Amino acid sequence: MEKNDSPGRKLLMTGAGQCNITHEGDVADFISHYGDNGKFLKPALMNFQNRDLVKFFDERELPVTSEPGGRVFPAVRNAVKVLEVLQKACASSKVEIKLGDPLLQISRKENGFHLLTKSGELFSENVVVATGGMTYPQTGSTGDGYAFARSLGHKVTETGTALAPVIVKDHKMASLSGISFAEAVVSLHRGMKKLAEKSGDLLITHTGLSGPVILDISRFIRKGDTMRASFVKGMSEAEMDALLLSRFRESGTRQVRKVLSVFGLPERLVDKILELAKIAHDQTGAQLSKESRLLLVEYLTGFPFVVSRLGGVEEAMVTRGGVALEEVSSRTMESRLVPGLYFIGEVLDMDGDTGGYNLQAAFSTAALAARAVHYSSPG
Ligand SMILES: Cc1cc2nc3c(=O)[nH]c(=O)nc-3n(C[C@H](O)[C@H](O)[C@H](O)COP(=O)(O)OP(=O)(O)OC[C@H]3O[C@@H](n4cnc5c(N)ncnc54)[C@H](O)[C@@H]3O)c2cc1C
Repeated sequence: MEKNDSPGRKLLMTGAGQCNITHEGDVADFISHYGDNGKFLKPALMNFQNRDLVKFFDERELPVTSEPGGRVFPAVRNAVKVLEVLQKACASSKVEIKLGDPLLQISRKENGFHLLTKSGELFSENVVVATGGMTYPQTGSTGDGYAFARSLGHKVTETGTALAPVIVKDHKMASLSGISFAEAVVSLHRGMKKLAEKSGDLLITHTGLSGPVILDISRFIRKGDTMRASFVKGMSEAEMDALLLSRFRESGTRQVRKVLSVFGLPERLVDKILELAKIAHDQTGAQLSKESRLLLVEYLTGFPFVVSRLGGVEEAMVTRGGVALEEVSSRTMESRLVPGLYFIGEVLDMDGDTGGYNLQAAFSTAALAARAVHYSSPG
């Protein structure tokens, strides 16, 4: 049952319309790409692996291609083709998709479920809830599955956005909007505690930060946290201080900005960092006070950005939180509370990094549930 008049609206938007269906590599390495809840997905990912997904599309004349970083796309780079293959596979297995008829309520009855839809009522022995998360609501994923789960006695953990850009308070680098850095190191801090660190491409936007490294760390980010971005490939403060000191000693008459050129940073960024550290454009190393040098070291190795908020449901790719995993069997996706009820995909309390991990999780959990429903049905 699909509430929209056509299926797969979100799928068509994936990978900017090219559909990053999965990621290369050993599926055992996938587990670390779903935050703390990756362990739950192990049986699903082992049962229907990335290579099984690739084979599925390959056998249906949709070969894939991989990017150097390991992201896997259909070779034609077109999500429409992925959807077509899935629809054809449904049709050939006599799966009927009921379109344009939102499901409104699920009630448990003896031997099955009573389903109330906009157009009427249905009875079903099993129900698989695959309603997705609550981001990009215009695609149809509006969080209905959370209400269904709650109404059937399931716990739903706190939901929020993930794979989302970060809006920064008092954004000091707003004028650098559009500048990106390959392999920047970004760490996340709450009070005195460092919560996470990731490296990857970083983009400065007019409201804050984005790019794969931000999206991937976003599931951990809360309002008021500080993110520190290193523009010098993870060099520590002590290493940077020692390097600058030795350069300034060697040639004290050289302008600080010239000394910084060894890092190959965009000129606009160097100018901005010097401005924020209150170092004049023509200031030389010998003229630099210890205080300014230490500020410069801090800004290069961990420029602080205070989080105002994460991007909202309109701009986040996935939902963090969802149907609590301890009440769902990781081997079948069946509810531990209500026999015959299954949860798959993003409605569950799990979210993956960018790179094809979310679609693979949706396909893998779906495969487990399909198998379990198949073997549970008489005949
Ligand atoms: C812009 C964008 C780009 C993305 N790119 C990628 C990518 O390249 N690779 C990747 O791995 N992941 C990507 N993702 C994430 C990925 O798309 C999702 O994690 C994935 O689609 C989740 O699949 P799902 O089947 O659980 O839910 P969804 O794809 O959200 O599907 C849920 C469906 O249920 C329907 N529905 C909801 N409520 C009801 C109801 N009450 N009655 C009937 N039907 C209902 C909805 O209309 C919808 O069609 C992207 C997400 C976004 C927003």
